Amino acid sequence: MLEVRDLKISYGQIEALKNVSIQVGRGEFVGVIGANGAGKTSLLMALSGAVRAGGGSVVFDGEEVTHLPQHLRVGRGIAIVPEGRQVLGPLTVMENLELGAYQRRAEARAVIARDRDMILDLFPILRQRARQLAATLSGGEQQMLAIGRALMSRPRLLLLDEPSFGLAPMVFAEILATLRRLHAEGLACLMVEQDAHVTLETTSRSYVFRTGQVIMEGSSSELREGGLVLVEESYLGSG
Ligand code: ATP
Repeated sequence: MLEVRDLKISYGQIEALKNVSIQVGRGEFVGVIGANGAGKTSLLMALSGAVRAGGGSVVFDGEEVTHLPQHLRVGRGIAIVPEGRQVLGPLTVMENLELGAYQRRAEARAVIARDRDMILDLFPILRQRARQLAATLSGGEQQMLAIGRALMSRPRLLLLDEPSFGLAPMVFAEILATLRRLHAEGLACLMVEQDAHVTLETTSRSYVFRTGQVIMEGSSSELREGGLVLVEESYLGSG
């Protein structure tokens, strides 16, 4: 479904990604782990179209999207739940969800309203908070809203940047359970996380990044059983 080949990202002199090649199969749940600065966020930004690729290619469903603007990628079925959630604080929960459907504004209101209802069923706490300003939500509720907003575009691939950030383990566990449910219903997910244990338990395949490169990849259960020591070394090594 997603085929990334030799992707390069640079910020001036800094090479954040060096020839990264990864794949996500249809309906697969794939993890990317690595220490701070390994290039995980840069990868997701490049896949969503928020930063420009300096080389390589991104193919989604057989179509080259490497240089496609972000809004057109959303239309193709790639949605991102960004680092730090980035919900719009002065807007209500409902308004944030509406924004997620911006690319679908030509569709019938009733179709969009039905999707919004499905998302509010998925995260019942958001239904209770529907008229509340996003800024007043807890961290966990904001993360749910960020996921809900991304789902409003009806993605086929969901990019998740560090969804555990700043959340209590219990709260994140609840969010993970919902992500697993979405995945079971056929949504492909690419999740970037610093927490290797949680990632390897949740995903079927993972990539380990270090200083802008893939240094290990494999089934998450193999990485968990055989290679976690190596995974941990990769963290220590990247300082
Ligand atoms: P983190 O978990 O801390 O977000 P990461 O693995 O997501 O780390 P990136 O944020 O992709 O890593 O950063 C990769 C490298 O690129 C780092 O060395 C970082 O300092 C650098 N970098 C990221 N964004 C920029 C930017 N806008 N300008 C300059 N350098 C940047």
